[in-house]
Amino acid sequence: MSDITTQNPYTNKVIDTYQKFSDAKVKNVLKTAKQTFNTWKLESIDARAKLLDKVANTLHQNIEKYSLLITNEMGKPISESRAEIEKCMFLCDFYRENAEDLLADEIIKTEATESFISYDPLGTKLAVMPWNYPFWQVMRFAIPTLTAGNTALLKHASNVSGCALIIEDIFIKSGYPKGCFQTLLVDHNQIESIIEDESIKAVSLTGSEKAGKNIAEIAGKHLKKTVLELGGNNSCIVLNDANLDKYLDVMVKARMQNTGQSCIAAKRFIVVESIYEEFVERFTTHVKELKSGDPLDNDTTIGVLAREDLADILEEQIEQSVTSGAKVFFGNFRNKAYYQPTVLVNVKPGMPAFDEETFGPVAAIIKAKNNDEAYEMASNSRFGLGTMVFTEDIDSAIKNISKIEDGAYFINEMVKSDPRLPFGGTKASGYGRELSREGIMEFVNKKTVYIN
Ligand code: NAP
Repeated sequence: MSDITTQNPYTNKVIDTYQKFSDAKVKNVLKTAKQTFNTWKLESIDARAKLLDKVANTLHQNIEKYSLLITNEMGKPISESRAEIEKCMFLCDFYRENAEDLLADEIIKTEATESFISYDPLGTKLAVMPWNYPFWQVMRFAIPTLTAGNTALLKHASNVSGCALIIEDIFIKSGYPKGCFQTLLVDHNQIESIIEDESIKAVSLTGSEKAGKNIAEIAGKHLKKTVLELGGNNSCIVLNDANLDKYLDVMVKARMQNTGQSCIAAKRFIVVESIYEEFVERFTTHVKELKSGDPLDNDTTIGVLAREDLADILEEQIEQSVTSGAKVFFGNFRNKAYYQPTVLVNVKPGMPAFDEETFGPVAAIIKAKNNDEAYEMASNSRFGLGTMVFTEDIDSAIKNISKIEDGAYFINEMVKSDPRLPFGGTKASGYGRELSREGIMEFVNKKTVYIN
């Protein structure tokens, strides 16, 4: 078995080396998860939900330690790592307060003396997760999954193996029975044998389209349910009456947060002609104010990409777009894993900056003749995570809801996840939903009970 080595993308220093799990060790983990499920599923919902207070508390007490690990492993600014931990705490609070209601039997009137739906846990679920929000992505899967009475296994992105192990430790520290949540340090070629194991009932993947297709194929072959949260190429439509004074900050954040490495980031700014010049100038002024630097500095707002090869891919996409007629309006300096916040104008369909997901701090600005063309261009994407529109004409924006085929449509706000609202995509962005009631319902057995 080869080792996994994690490396700080800002300093390039090796952080740690981990031994991958042997097949025998993986089998042991699967066995433990199954055994634990048999007792965990019998706990009351209230007892399971009460542990969420402890998880929130563990996160709160160790926020500096966990934030430091996130930033060291994947390079995001430390202030954003802290915000990620705080969001996980909010997630715990949401399911702590609502789990009993969400999972309560649902009475349905029929000719029976009594008939209802019982929301039972399914068994062990496997999560395959990405590095961009190494705590949040895992927690938004694990918290509802465990609270519903399932057990969980995590195969995290290899470059955040330290986070993967510490998340397991958080559940142990918070009083969960051994085997409720376990981390597997494995690579791709071990995933099929895990999914095919009888104990695994479902798989949740957050990651690229390529990984999604592979996981869906394997899971389909073994008749296991999947939830896929994949890539995105969200549009930010800016109409001529958009309130730039009020919302430019939000629009810049929508693209540059997490150094541009967010599936729901605004990747394409589709701006109507009459406001285009003003938008480009003012947006760029805000972009220039972002502070690149050491991710550990409190006032840094742009860190480095999580790996140097990710900057190679981004650079190639921008080069190809420029060859096809796009223009660099600002930025485009690159050094190893650092990519300067960049504004690209004259972007058109057919260019990588329009057609593909760009995973870094590059804003592609596209000119639309009018509102109709702006909506058409926004929908012109293989992906379907979300669209945002900025306008003062809320009524008209509401009338356009049905024009957007994505999983989310935000008016005068950036697309963002919230434990209270469902989150997920359509088209190449995947299927299924996380968070809210929809998320906890994805992996339960909706059992019909009929009493004559
Ligand atoms: P990735 O390369 O697909 O990796 C995600 C996870 O899948 C990792 O654990 C990875 O393991 C594993 N993996 C990679 N290739 C695989 C394959 N062929 N078969 C099975 N598993 C495979 O994605 P990433 O670079 O970590 O994350 C960025 C992508 O995730 C972007 O496309 C982004 O849009 C998407 N994302 C989506 C959401 C959402 O909610 N929709 C949220 C965040 C990110 P290894 O590390 O061992 O390769």
